[in-house]
Amino acid sequence: SRPVRISVHLHPYGDGRKLMLSRDVTALEQADAMRRDFVANVSHEIRTPLTVLTGFVETLQTLPLDAEERARYLAMMAQQAARMQSVVHDLLTLSRLEGSPLPGISEWTSVQVLMLRCEEEGRALSALLTQNNHRHHVLQFPAAQDLRSAGEIAGVQAELQSVLSNLISNAVRYTPAGGTITVQWRYTTDGNAIFSVSDTGPGIAPEHIPRITERFYRVDRSRSRETGGTGLGLAIVKHAVQRHGATLDITSALGKGSVFSVTFPANRLRRSALPAELQPA
Ligand code: ADP
Repeated sequence: SRPVRISVHLHPYGDGRKLMLSRDVTALEQADAMRRDFVANVSHEIRTPLTVLTGFVETLQTLPLDAEERARYLAMMAQQAARMQSVVHDLLTLSRLEGSPLPGISEWTSVQVLMLRCEEEGRALSALLTQNNHRHHVLQFPAAQDLRSAGEIAGVQAELQSVLSNLISNAVRYTPAGGTITVQWRYTTDGNAIFSVSDTGPGIAPEHIPRITERFYRVDRSRSRETGGTGLGLAIVKHAVQRHGATLDITSALGKGSVFSVTFPANRLRRSALPAELQPA
């Protein structure tokens, strides 16, 4: 958009000379438009399940349903309530990220602990999504013995956990049953470390890639909702990654799959001692 300047003319000298103060308000206006968009999006995300929920309540109140039908309606209501809960949960996570001070390097989080937790979550989500399917996802995680020497990251455990969990959850949710999800943690020769999640899912068209980290941006709305997505996962990831001095890279090929990688800088990493069997004598 074109820059908008607001100018104020003052006459502070009393001799006709003017002092002009002018200010570019484009950024302010943009921030304001973004805030309005955001509120509209939030309202929509909450109102949709709420409307469905209200409809079901009315049905239960007015129609004579047998026990089986009632149970079916209640299950669908629970699903809508859970959806609202996830949206609110993710919104609170985002606002907490924005409101809290930048993580220093006083708190250290074990990569092993992070990985074990997200492996558990990833497997549970995959089992849930493929339960009516004779095929499952192939999930590949680093071997337990490699994780013992994976080291630590300086930062807030809950935030780092949400980065890993969101990326793995996306890979599982967008990859059809039978596909493979590979999670890796490796150090580069210059001491940085890369956490990556690769999938053999549908991939993301290049024009969408720069936008998928925006709040509520989804390539396929129905697929996202079907699998419990709030549209906020990658916004949370991007935010938490930046706060930890890390970078997020996304590469993807349509029909082949995607790779999301997070690079942590060497100055925020602490390599733990070598496992006993590799220690020099
Ligand atoms: P959502 O809750 O919709 O998954 P996200 O912010 O996590 O929200 O992701 C935004 C969008 O990016 C998703 O709706 C989806 O279209 C796309 N996306 C994210 N991860 C993947 C992936 N691994 N494969 C394909 N598309 C993805």
